[in-house]
Amino acid sequence: MLLKYSFGIGDRFARQGRHQLRAFTEAEKSGVIITPVWNKSHREHTTVGSAPKEVMAEAIAATEGLGWQHSYLVDADHINLDTVKEFIPHSNFFTLDVGKYIGKKAEESEIRKFVVHVRTNFLDGLNIIGVSEEFNLSLKSVKEVANKFLYSIQKAAEIYSFIRKSKGNDDFCIEISMDEVESPQSRVELLLILKMISYYGIPIDTLAPKFEGRFNKGIDYEGDLSAFEKEFEDFLLIMDYAAEQFGMNPDQKLSIHTGSDKFSLYPIINRLIKKHDAGLHLKTAGTTWLEEVIGLAEAEGAALELMKEIYIEALHRFEELTSPYLTVLNINKENLPDSDKVRSWSGKLFAESIRHDQQNPLYNSDFRQLMHTAYKIAAKHGERFTDLLDEHEVLVGEHVFQNIYKRHLTPLFIQ
Ligand SMILES: [Zn+2]
Repeated sequence: MLLKYSFGIGDRFARQGRHQLRAFTEAEKSGVIITPVWNKSHREHTTVGSAPKEVMAEAIAATEGLGWQHSYLVDADHINLDTVKEFIPHSNFFTLDVGKYIGKKAEESEIRKFVVHVRTNFLDGLNIIGVSEEFNLSLKSVKEVANKFLYSIQKAAEIYSFIRKSKGNDDFCIEISMDEVESPQSRVELLLILKMISYYGIPIDTLAPKFEGRFNKGIDYEGDLSAFEKEFEDFLLIMDYAAEQFGMNPDQKLSIHTGSDKFSLYPIINRLIKKHDAGLHLKTAGTTWLEEVIGLAEAEGAALELMKEIYIEALHRFEELTSPYLTVLNINKENLPDSDKVRSWSGKLFAESIRHDQQNPLYNSDFRQLMHTAYKIAAKHGERFTDLLDEHEVLVGEHVFQNIYKRHLTPLFIQ
């Protein structure tokens, strides 16, 4: 169901499904088939006031409308035991977010059993060909990792079996995500997490670890590119090793999350997945919403007016809008244009300030990040906002399509 390459598309207002899918049909013309996965989290549904069944309806309308012949999926994004229920009938991809369970300790006897299991199957100094570090699997080290992660994987197993039971079949994909946490997982942690996943029999399709560096909303990666390159390559090798040695899904792959644009990582990822013949799932979220903003700004008139209003309100509600995303935002408030300035802007200037084109001197990453969080305000405007989207569908849709096709799919999978 999930092909080697898959790409997660968020669509906060569920209006751009067809234009998003056009990017995949264009990629197909270059001979690269990528599974589209429409993802939306419980948090986004709550903010926008939408329901999981609307995402499925959007996916069906888009794929039928464009005659998409390949698989597509609808992702219950970042769910846990508290939020999974409403997604079950309308999703066939589940992202089990275990972030909030990490660090909580499993029962002592359970930890002991797992540690013994690892220690009887592995040597202290395990080497995986190509991975720079030797794996320290000493009693102390395995115990430490089990103390930190075993409970979270038990929880993942619990969510998985709940979904399986509720669905009455196995016809869905499973991702485990641990990207929305404070610190990145180390190599030995990743290896042992995979061991835990196989130990509890969760048939994962993808795993989303947290990588080093900052993945800020809507903007490029901030961090050491060569360190990321080494980390990503090591993680690919560990995934492969686990698939083979732990008898896991041979097609299991890494997933890269966050609403960031990560453009500087794309050439590295592209090269490494091809070098290792690996698959990849890459998830985006707010990108489409920002293209809607760009298209509506360019439309001038009432549409531009609303975009300005949204920005100005976002400025006033800065703390409230940004506080849920502190680990994934890096906004320098001094670079945010004030309300008077923005009121005087043309649609072109507004659009160029927000479009993620690092070559353009007008591009303002602080402005872009704040607008990224402002979809909540657009949602509040209800039909005033969605009617404008309908009115300017051609212009907005073209931006949505071009953004996904040219800025994401091409450098990641096609080039
Ligand atoms: Zn995530």
